[in-house]
Amino acid sequence: MTFLLHNTASGGKEEFEPLEPGHVRLYTCGPTVWNFAHIGNFRTFLFYDLLRRHLRFSGYRLTHVVNITDIEDRIISHATERGVSIREYAGPYEEAFLEDLATIRFQGVEVMPRATEHVPEMVAMVEKLLAKGNAYQADADVYYRVSSFPRYGELAHLDRAGLKAGARVAADDYDKEDVVDFALWKGEQPGEAAVGAVWEAPFGRGRPGWHIECSAMSLKYLGPTFDIHAGGIDLLFPHHQNEVAQSEAANEAPLARVWLHSEHLADATGAKMSKRLGNVATLRDLLDAGHDPVAIRFFLLASAHYRQKLRLDETGIRAAAEQVRRLRDFAARVDRSQPAPADDPFLVQELEDARHHYRAALDDDLNLPQAVGYLFDAVREANAGLDQGRAGPAALAAMRVLLDDADQHLDVLKEEDRSLEAEVERLIAEREAARAARDFARADAIREELKARGISLEDTKEGVRWRPA
Ligand code: AMP
Ligand code: ZN
Repeated sequence: MTFLLHNTASGGKEEFEPLEPGHVRLYTCGPTVWNFAHIGNFRTFLFYDLLRRHLRFSGYRLTHVVNITDIEDRIISHATERGVSIREYAGPYEEAFLEDLATIRFQGVEVMPRATEHVPEMVAMVEKLLAKGNAYQADADVYYRVSSFPRYGELAHLDRAGLKAGARVAADDYDKEDVVDFALWKGEQPGEAAVGAVWEAPFGRGRPGWHIECSAMSLKYLGPTFDIHAGGIDLLFPHHQNEVAQSEAANEAPLARVWLHSEHLADATGAKMSKRLGNVATLRDLLDAGHDPVAIRFFLLASAHYRQKLRLDETGIRAAAEQVRRLRDFAARVDRSQPAPADDPFLVQELEDARHHYRAALDDDLNLPQAVGYLFDAVREANAGLDQGRAGPAALAAMRVLLDDADQHLDVLKEEDRSLEAEVERLIAEREAARAARDFARADAIREELKARGISLEDTKEGVRWRPA
């Protein structure tokens, strides 16, 4: 089987082969823990999850690094306002992030390094870049000398002349040799020591710039050259381009062999979701609105290819919830079905083909929406086969294998380990909300869903009562 990935560096799909047989080394840029991550961020993290799961599915061992950026301007300014250290400020957001990842069933990764715990590695890299002439000191700051790296702009397919013309000179950037130069190290500012954001370095006290964090941590855990580097498309420039310039100049080796970039999640109007625009929803907002985390997972993961924009809307999440329900119903049906006396060879063949197509779609640059299309076609055929008594032992076994393969990526079949009561209460609350919003179709659908689970509802003056029918 060949596994194709769209490499931003070459601009086309390439056959993937890790440097070390059987082992994939992967770096995916993690969150800046200055606030709650929004659902757009989680689209990107679920893309990492899909990539990771498909590599595992393909039989590779992984060393996957997701960094935690906990040294950053916004963290420092908020910590200063509150009079706490940057670690104290960022800690709860990091915890919330990990909780949210578990809620949407993001598979654990091998290494999650924090920037605050890797400053010596960053200092060492800056020293190296200074010694090689790729960096220079300007007062208390250290900048990367972009003119020293002729391939600057190549990864992002930008030409340097254009970059220069388009660059805006910020007031505090006057001491740079060139407007495109970027900070590797920022000299200590008043108040930063009080919040624990100052470190000693041979070139002066201060703190690392954001880009050097990733270069130093990827070198430490994955070595100078690794297999895959991934991130959201907004990170391509300048962040990833700067990582390439830093790492390749310091290590004299190519940084990553394959670069993957995922598209944004947009709001219902099509605008990129971002804190700056104020159009963000957090995972917690969506859960409070009554959505199932597994439906959110399915929506973000499977409703669009990772290189396509996706709009967050109510209809999309509802449709995802419905798809999850159909898969679960089918899995439950397969579980309780007795094999028919004889197999219909055409049905068995169709199911085996579906499994093959499902995998082939994922091998083609992780096309999960297409894979899911094959899966649902197969579910339809399988249900018909079960209805008509054409599903013998081989067909039932093929159905189980197909569901098992699909759930390696989707991870939606296992029900949440909720008590019946909590689940019923949640559905009742959802029905109340639907009625308050005069969405009676939804309210009736919930009543029917509960009925199907053997729960009947009674509307009383005190509210809704429920009992097993
Ligand atoms: P940040 O915490 O801002 O560094 O972002 C963490 C990750 O989320 C990065 O890989 C970003 O590219 C990604 N990201 C930010 N906004 C969006 C969005 N609206 N849709 C998808 N990914 C995003
Ligand atoms: Zn990064």
